[in-house]
Amino acid sequence: MEISHLPEILALEPKYRAKQIQQALFIDLVASWQAATILPQKLRTTLQANCPIDIKAEIVVAKDKKTIKALLTLADEKLVETVLMKHQAGRNTVCISCMVGCPMRCAFCATGEMGLVRNLSADEMIEQILFFARYLKPQGARINSVVFMGMGEPFLNYDNVIQAIRLIQSPNGLNVGARHISVSTCGILNGIKKLAQEKLPINLAISLHAPTDEVRQQLMPIAKTYPIKKLLTEVDYYITQTNRKVMFEYLMIKGVNDSVKHAQALAALMKNRLCVVNLIQYNPTNKFIPSPYKQMNYFKSILEKEGVNTTMRYKFGQDIKGACGQLATKKN
Ligand code: SAH
Repeated sequence: MEISHLPEILALEPKYRAKQIQQALFIDLVASWQAATILPQKLRTTLQANCPIDIKAEIVVAKDKKTIKALLTLADEKLVETVLMKHQAGRNTVCISCMVGCPMRCAFCATGEMGLVRNLSADEMIEQILFFARYLKPQGARINSVVFMGMGEPFLNYDNVIQAIRLIQSPNGLNVGARHISVSTCGILNGIKKLAQEKLPINLAISLHAPTDEVRQQLMPIAKTYPIKKLLTEVDYYITQTNRKVMFEYLMIKGVNDSVKHAQALAALMKNRLCVVNLIQYNPTNKFIPSPYKQMNYFKSILEKEGVNTTMRYKFGQDIKGACGQLATKKN
């Protein structure tokens, strides 16, 4: 899909064409230009040749029927994964990837094992959402939230991610409210700073996963570059600039970061910040063991006793390897 070529083609057309194309692409959700019958045949052929919107994908549906993973084949035959989560009350979230692979090499993450293959363009991010928007259309449903929590580190592909977000939230694009868009980062400091200045009221999530540098460094190589103290200084800057609550993601790994001491240390870090801690059960990919739910609940109770806002993430699509940190394509 290469919709970034649209402006060049439309420059030669009457002004109202832009509106028609936008209607076809983002509202009618046509799967190919030939289906956009409002456009003259000649233009459809030009569009088909110069900015195709066909999407090549395979899907896998989880047993719960609520999680659907799509494996998309990009123009250069690289593969990328994206996941749809159908929540209650018609809420549909797409978890999109911003890279093929990822350079961060977090010890617990399947994508990290691949290393970076390449960044995705903004079009390739939009394509993932359009795929599921088209999929849901016959069911009378739509995408109402997007999370950048698939493969890749958004702040190492900053410009393309921001370009994609602008189209996702635009009423002329996918029209998903900025407040329903979340970006998760392992903590790239200048990305956090730049986002603070964008004036985009989206949600920021930080993959913290440990309350001390020592433990964090065992899990995330980035922790060697940016100590937690510096990370939190940047997050505080973000909060003062945006007045938006930040989510700290905390993966619970048995015997590594799930003790009472860890909970107390985390509580001390989080106290008096405009934030929420989201406890995530580790989805086994290789060497670690998930914390039992009992331990997670206990951990949560300690945080709450200290006045830290805490939630637990419901696990989606583990059986199709579509859950957090399970996205990785063997074939790239
Ligand atoms: N690079 C970004 C976003 C991609 S991962 C980041 O680091 O935030 C999205 C979330 O899934 C992150 O919080 C990541 O740490 C988490 N994750 C990675 N592997 C996981 C696993 N095996 N089980 C549960 N969560 C995992």
